[in-house]
Amino acid sequence: MQALKEKILAEGRVFEGDVLKVDSFLNHQIDVKFLGEIGKEFRRRFDGCEINKILTVEASGIGIACIVAQYFDVPVVFAKKSMSVNIAGDVYKAPVTSFTRKKQYEMVVSKSFLSPEDKVLILDDFLAEGSALLGLASLARSAGATIVGAGIVIEKAHQQGGRLIREQGIRVESLARIASMDHRTGKIEFVTD
Ligand code: 5GP
Repeated sequence: MQALKEKILAEGRVFEGDVLKVDSFLNHQIDVKFLGEIGKEFRRRFDGCEINKILTVEASGIGIACIVAQYFDVPVVFAKKSMSVNIAGDVYKAPVTSFTRKKQYEMVVSKSFLSPEDKVLILDDFLAEGSALLGLASLARSAGATIVGAGIVIEKAHQQGGRLIREQGIRVESLARIASMDHRTGKIEFVTD
């Protein structure tokens, strides 16, 4: 998605540890109108697919998923990053290692909101080593749901996540695929598709 690549080049900043910050439009301040364009692009890419639910993970995923879901006319379910008192009853769980916080945690989702009848589009802001997406896929599989595909706003294609997910036979649509980035020069290069 050309407009996204241009926005990343204009507003993205590269940090040590292979971290790209896009806080001005995606991860802190949210450019709602631009996310609408992202929603339309996911809708176009998954056109003709039967999808009845979008699955993401808190926190950054929620805002993106809610805007995208309007173009699919489906509800959003988000996995929580820890058990809390306000999650009732039985849950599906999956272990995840956080890329940005380097911490292990358990993703949980209530059994009330994922079932074998569900045809799920998994969404997330970034795909890096793949742990978050693998966790979400595992939650969907535990519920017996069908995984229609995964929509990623920014895939860091030089990291292994994309390969791991595609090896599981999951269709991954990434709107921008980064080939390399350098925190010393600030240079960001995209995979040419
Ligand atoms: P993974 O589990 O694929 O290693 O990492 C994906 C998760 O880590 C995403 O949900 C995202 O929140 C976060 N993440 C990974 N890489 C980056 C990055 O370069 N920048 C930002 N802002 N978040 C990232």
